[in-house]
Amino acid sequence: MRSALIIALIAAAAVSASTYFLSAFDIVIVSASAIAVFVFSFLILKYRTDRFIYKRVKSIYGESLPGPDSAADMVSLTREVKKFASDKKLEIEMLKIREEYRREFLGNVAHELKTPLFTVQGYLSTLLDGAVKDKSVRQKYLERAEKGVERLIHIVQDFDMITRLEMGNLNLAVMKFDIVELVQSVFELLEMEASKKDILLHFDRRYSRPIYVLGDKERIRQAVINLVMNSIKYGKEKGSTEAAIEEIADDKVIVRITDNGQGIDAQYLPRLFERFFRVDKSGSRADGGSGLGLAIVKHIIEGHNEKIFVKSTRGEGSEFSFTLKKAE
Ligand code: ADP
Repeated sequence: MRSALIIALIAAAAVSASTYFLSAFDIVIVSASAIAVFVFSFLILKYRTDRFIYKRVKSIYGESLPGPDSAADMVSLTREVKKFASDKKLEIEMLKIREEYRREFLGNVAHELKTPLFTVQGYLSTLLDGAVKDKSVRQKYLERAEKGVERLIHIVQDFDMITRLEMGNLNLAVMKFDIVELVQSVFELLEMEASKKDILLHFDRRYSRPIYVLGDKERIRQAVINLVMNSIKYGKEKGSTEAAIEEIADDKVIVRITDNGQGIDAQYLPRLFERFFRVDKSGSRADGGSGLGLAIVKHIIEGHNEKIFVKSTRGEGSEFSFTLKKAE
């Protein structure tokens, strides 16, 4: 506006001077031409500067700005630039969080692998250093090294599963199956493990009829294995693990796995399903868990759009339960 005013004044002065010399000075003509010059130069200047600014801004922000039409409207351009900047800020924040998450995950992975790897290395080095000639320890050390390798495999399988679950690659193969039979098969699978601590695996009652549910059978089996395995790991000698299956609504079934083991302090319950979370940092590692068992269970159940619950009292026992969709 100021530039247009200056141009208009210069034009008015020029017109006045030339008309004065030609003795045809007329205030009306001078004023009219000044106003006309002002209006035209204002419009041209505005259009040119808008385009110039738009081009400059565009060269900074790239393709993500809208077309040049909006260049005529500096208010919307400013709005777009602000929005663009806040979007970018959000994107950077997200990338930072993801990077943090990745770094933390890698740190945890290395930490989990270290203990069993050093155990295996320890036994193998001792054997190589001469213990291999000692018949009494040779077999024992080899077996322990093998156990360490088995633990490593188990941990790596858990890493693999949690990574796939967290990437959202669930690809559920939903089918109709009998949940009673599935829990029974998990009990049979873990019977040996339970007998080491003299733990009894049983149902709360006799299930004479199948209870059909909808879900990915193998994934649900994995969830039940993790829960029953935990009930054994954190169960007490001569304790028991009870499974109960209840139809809670027309279309819902709840599966409960209850133990009378060591239980969990209320303060830890909110964090229980976080990956790598352990109540007893040193103790449970010796039991061979990766700290991912419950995180995997949670992913599987929530991937089915179902819910998982925990109730526990320190010293008395725990109850983990989850819902499933009932099949007709
Ligand atoms: P971990 O590999 O350590 O078993 P989980 O994710 O399966 O990892 O469990 C996380 C933690 O929750 C365990 O370290 C343990 O402290 C606690 N926990 C899980 N299940 C039970 C249970 N049935 N009784 C008592 N504590 C449990």
